[in-house]
Amino acid sequence: METESADVAVIGGGVAGMSTAARLQADGYSTVVLEQHHNVGGCAGYYERAGFRFDVGATTLVDFVPGGVGGQLLSAVGFEPPAIAIQDAYDVCLPDRTVTLYRDHTDWDAERRAKLGDDKQHLAFYDFIDDLSTRLWRLTRKDIKMPIQGVGDIVRNARAVGLRDLPLARYLRWTMADAMRAHDVYDDRALRAVVSMLVEDTVHASLNEAPLLNAVLGMTIHRTGLGRATGGMYGFWDSFVDQYTDISGRVETGRTVTGVTGSHGEFRVNSAAGPVHAEQVVSTVPVPVTRDLASTVVGDRLDDYCSMLRAHEGSALVLFLGVPDTEVEGHERTHHQILQAYDEPLGNGNNMFVSVSAPGDDVSAPAGHRAVMLSTHCAVEPWQDLDRAAYEEQKGAAREQLLAGGRTVYPELGTDPVVSEVATPVTYEQFTNRPRGAVGGYKQTPANANQGAVPQDVGIEGFYLAGDTTWPGLGTVACVKGSKVAADHVRS
Ligand SMILES: Cc1cc2nc3c(=O)[nH]c(=O)nc-3n(C[C@H](O)[C@H](O)[C@H](O)COP(=O)(O)OP(=O)(O)OC[C@H]3O[C@@H](n4cnc5c(N)ncnc54)[C@H](O)[C@@H]3O)c2cc1C
Repeated sequence: METESADVAVIGGGVAGMSTAARLQADGYSTVVLEQHHNVGGCAGYYERAGFRFDVGATTLVDFVPGGVGGQLLSAVGFEPPAIAIQDAYDVCLPDRTVTLYRDHTDWDAERRAKLGDDKQHLAFYDFIDDLSTRLWRLTRKDIKMPIQGVGDIVRNARAVGLRDLPLARYLRWTMADAMRAHDVYDDRALRAVVSMLVEDTVHASLNEAPLLNAVLGMTIHRTGLGRATGGMYGFWDSFVDQYTDISGRVETGRTVTGVTGSHGEFRVNSAAGPVHAEQVVSTVPVPVTRDLASTVVGDRLDDYCSMLRAHEGSALVLFLGVPDTEVEGHERTHHQILQAYDEPLGNGNNMFVSVSAPGDDVSAPAGHRAVMLSTHCAVEPWQDLDRAAYEEQKGAAREQLLAGGRTVYPELGTDPVVSEVATPVTYEQFTNRPRGAVGGYKQTPANANQGAVPQDVGIEGFYLAGDTTWPGLGTVACVKGSKVAADHVRS
């Protein structure tokens, strides 16, 4: 068997792995991405069925605009951006009103005043969030790094933050609920519902648990730009992989890493197809998977992180529908977030995100049809160790919950589908290799965010981590941000 080698072996071809590999390859390193699935993308990947291309998890790319975190990645590696349509707005549907989240600030300000309140307290809260959001998104695009692991990080962060934004540090221990209470708006049901939905969707935590700074970033992603490529994630990866291989990057799909041994300069990354010898390794699979794969390399360094992550697990339920245009036409916007009941807990269909492929996007769906993805968060536990009958029953109930939510916006949805399939934590475990099907990112709380987050460097020379179980956490933008930190470690 021929010996394969690379300067850097990247384990996992999701957003984090592909971004890290592209950065390093563009910088002159030889890189190889080892991906167990038959295509790249992971939780931001796609699958094909009956002429439709569905996004398996992420349906929106966040901050892939010029100068944004994703835009910076593309320009750093010299890739042409694929055709990504940035949404001007999306609708948040509450039981008694619809609030449109406009990207344009003036429109958004008018909308929230009209729909969510415009008294002194509300206006002060909006100003507070706007100011934090502007500062935080600016910082996100700078060379910031958490957790702080030494004097070098203090200097790096001080340079990035500057005196102007240093006072933000005082909010490090605040939750979103603290901020709402401080502005006396916590008891406003509709406002609290909208903020809770946006925060739960992006940092997976309740208002009482969500760290304020992370929650503000999460609830304002509509301002930075939510994008969907033509062909969804299929279109995005098709373009990205082409450009990565054009600069001699190698993607090995269908290649499950079974173990990593060795040390800096002489790592051996094993799989059934043979080993890859690499000077350095970046592992972008979830931290508990890395611990098992590379036990002789990482020792017990990841044990505490694994326990902490286990306590923050969550997952997702997704209904994929391939439907005739007529079931979804007549709507100005293609993305909706829906709350079915104010007084029920969020998740399991109560707070769901609906993405519909754009009209005319015939890469996502055959002519005259649209690909529809309805997703919601769920807990991992109720899906463990079910027998077949119980599993099918629970899955059927999930389908009904998602369909009922979707029909509050699209009454005809799913009446005559060409494709109708449900993904559960069990499905995600099977396809992503994530333990217990924990996808969509781990819930962020003060215990595991920022200074409590898993760093890319856990003290092993030449062996680094990235991905949504490491800082800054879940979502495409976070994975791209973390890939920069991991690539910086490789280069140092
Ligand atoms: C339903 C849902 C909706 C979401 N919506 C959004 C959204 O709209 N916008 C957004 O920004 N984010 C969204 N997210 C979150 C986002 O998708 C993830 O945070 C992100 O894609 C994680 O990327 P990653 O590279 O860290 O991990 P992964 O995507 O899990 O990538 C890791 C890769 O490693 C591979 N792998 C695993 N084990 C091995 C092994 N032993 N050997 C080789 N390869 C291996 C896996 O197959 C996978 O491809 C959503 C997630 C879900 C589940």
